[in-house]
Amino acid sequence: MVARIKDVRDVLEPGQTLTLHGWVRTRRDSKQGLSFIELNDGSCLGNLQIIVEGTTEGFEDQQKHITTGASLEVTGELKESPGKGQRVELHATKIVVLGSADPETYPLQKKRHTFEYLREIAHLRPRSNTFGAIARVRNAASAAIHNFFQSRHFLYVHTPIITTSDCEGAGQMFRVTTLDLARIAQIQTEIDYAQDFFGKAASLTVSGQLEAEIYATSTGPCYTFGPTFRAENSNTTRHLAEFWMVEPEIPFFDLQANMELAEEFIKYVISHVLETCAEDMDFFNQRIEKTVLETLKNIVDHDFERIPYTTAVEILEKADRKWEFPVQWGHDLQSEHERYLTEEHFKKPIILFDYPRTIKPFYMRCNEDGKTVRAMDVLVPRIGEIIGGSQREERLDVLEARMKECHLDPEDYWWYLDLRRFGTVPHAGFGLGFERLIQLLTGMQNIRDCIPFPRTPKNAEF
Ligand code: ATP
Ligand code: MN
Repeated sequence: MVARIKDVRDVLEPGQTLTLHGWVRTRRDSKQGLSFIELNDGSCLGNLQIIVEGTTEGFEDQQKHITTGASLEVTGELKESPGKGQRVELHATKIVVLGSADPETYPLQKKRHTFEYLREIAHLRPRSNTFGAIARVRNAASAAIHNFFQSRHFLYVHTPIITTSDCEGAGQMFRVTTLDLARIAQIQTEIDYAQDFFGKAASLTVSGQLEAEIYATSTGPCYTFGPTFRAENSNTTRHLAEFWMVEPEIPFFDLQANMELAEEFIKYVISHVLETCAEDMDFFNQRIEKTVLETLKNIVDHDFERIPYTTAVEILEKADRKWEFPVQWGHDLQSEHERYLTEEHFKKPIILFDYPRTIKPFYMRCNEDGKTVRAMDVLVPRIGEIIGGSQREERLDVLEARMKECHLDPEDYWWYLDLRRFGTVPHAGFGLGFERLIQLLTGMQNIRDCIPFPRTPKNAEF
């Protein structure tokens, strides 16, 4: 039987004959002529100890190739392990080196490497403990996201990646073109997008929301979960040029219900990951961030604080703190403000709502006060904003007026306006940045380590 190490460690009973595949993490030789190989196959954090004797078939001729990073096929008998920290070990009867890894040049040696260095070898970093664990947590969180929405009968909608509309009504999009830019630069001063592939300027999407609204107002509650692109030149630890976003959209829903759903959603995903990735989560807590488990349990066990943006600004103005960026009503909160509120003032996640309309996109529902819109941001410790959402403007005349105020041409959004023209309904939704969630779950400092192959300014290797 061919097995994976997770099953071997967790469930299989001693006495069975097994074949395993994996990569050597370490090898130690005893004076008695035994070799102890720590084998890992990525199915779990823990390795399986393989015990090899001089008489093990294949060992003698291949033993000099059994070094860190080499891939093996091992057959043997599973036995109870006398050593501590493991239930079972494999006593090899046959060993085959499938691929050697020259110890002189293998970049991922046993010693601890910096995350910066590991980013340069992103093709090998998933073989390390940390990046294997991150990959499994990403996987578990993805499954939890689908479970959460599927069990509530939300439809998973695939919104387009190439778009000709700009969701936020602001720039910072990657252009998609087949035009010969080098040639155009030589002969024209202006680009004629009518000649381009789609007959007009196209970009990579910054959000699937507008299209999700189409399905929400047709087939009911839905969600998207896909890649999103922002060409913002922000070299921070929480921004990527390509990231994954989860965007539920719900008809017959107001801001209050939206906040409840966001809170329930975050708690559900955290609980699922704590339950299904216990070994990886202990690793993060011990080796990456000593407070991560405490923070997550605290999030799951307490109600989120909900306060209007205006109240948050008052709290920040009264805070005994020198801000790098001044706090002023009508301005976006900076990361330092968000983190103060959630980490120090409330010491738990908070949901800010009713933001000034001047700093929010056109599609958010206008409040009666004429100054604010029904926006909400969920802020969590260590990250700051993890979710941004709103109740959408469902009134045709108000939406059109808002578009003009934002210097957008309603004609470009004719189909979006049709949703208000025909059978409009109150609706709401939000967007969760998946990699920020992974940062929260793992305690990793830099968002570049929370996605397999990060894309940031000047970096799109692998
Ligand atoms: P921020 O102010 O932090 O840059 P935003 O307000 O521009 O974020 P939204 O447009 O509200 O972000 O997007 C919804 C969510 O997507 C955010 O709450 C965040 O979790 C995530 N997100 C936004 N931009 C990025 C990015 N560049 N990299 C990773 N995640 C992002
Ligand atoms: Mn936002």
